[in-house]
Amino acid sequence: MTLLTQLTLRYLSPLQKENNSQISFLDTLITRKNVAVTISVYRKPTHTDRYLDFNSHHELKHKISTASTLLNRALNLPSTAEGIRNELTHVSNALKSNGYPSATMSNILKKKSTSEVIPSPEELVGMFFKWTDPPDSQNGFAVLPYIKGVTEPLTRILNNNGIRATTRPVKTLQQEFASPKSRLPSDRQTNVVYKIPCADCTWNYIGETGRCLHTRKKEHIRNTKVFKSGSNIASHAWLEGHTIDFENARVIDRGNSRVRKTLESWHTAITSQADNNSKQLPRQYSILL
Ligand SMILES: [Zn+2]
Repeated sequence: MTLLTQLTLRYLSPLQKENNSQISFLDTLITRKNVAVTISVYRKPTHTDRYLDFNSHHELKHKISTASTLLNRALNLPSTAEGIRNELTHVSNALKSNGYPSATMSNILKKKSTSEVIPSPEELVGMFFKWTDPPDSQNGFAVLPYIKGVTEPLTRILNNNGIRATTRPVKTLQQEFASPKSRLPSDRQTNVVYKIPCADCTWNYIGETGRCLHTRKKEHIRNTKVFKSGSNIASHAWLEGHTIDFENARVIDRGNSRVRKTLESWHTAITSQADNNSKQLPRQYSILL
């Protein structure tokens, strides 16, 4: 902890502004009082102390792990005995209001105080090899959706047969609620491969751009109007006497500059009557067509 204090003071002080003799860094709050420095847990002012609810439909293991992480930090991060006491009180209250029984918390704390033995270097090496080279008896790995009363016996059966099983929630909040960041409409997204059809026949133009389709389409429209030489779209429109269906131009793929050319060739190869300026798809890809 002393080393952390030294490092933080040396490297962060010039970067972060001290506010009320305090500097926060990740979940650490460093407070200076004259020459003494104390470390405690930092929470953003917007922090709500809301954690995985103990009564929610999740595996017990995940709830224990939530409480364990918080209690572990309370025991290890604050630099003073008073800080540890305050943090433990804060975390216990927070866990209680998230439905965690006191018995669960004291069990975790009891385990922590007995498992504080640091293994010898030889033991550590042994642990490392055990970790990198799991025994042959484990011959599989399964991820199960968590359904109370079903997952537990299933996990036991799998374990007995040498298959390691872990669980994940069936539904996550992220699946339930759409992302708060709204995505741009596809024609405003950059780095795209696009298709512009002809209104009068089955001809298509496949193109790619690092800009967005909206901008590129405007150029195509302008080129068609003036029959710009070298423009495949203008050539088709003028030589066939067809109207290009710019309204139905759409993005069909996305990729960085490295893969866009290949994607363009790929889409040209799989689209019937496709025209473009791209190179032919390398021969080794033909097996996929
Ligand atoms: Zn046409």
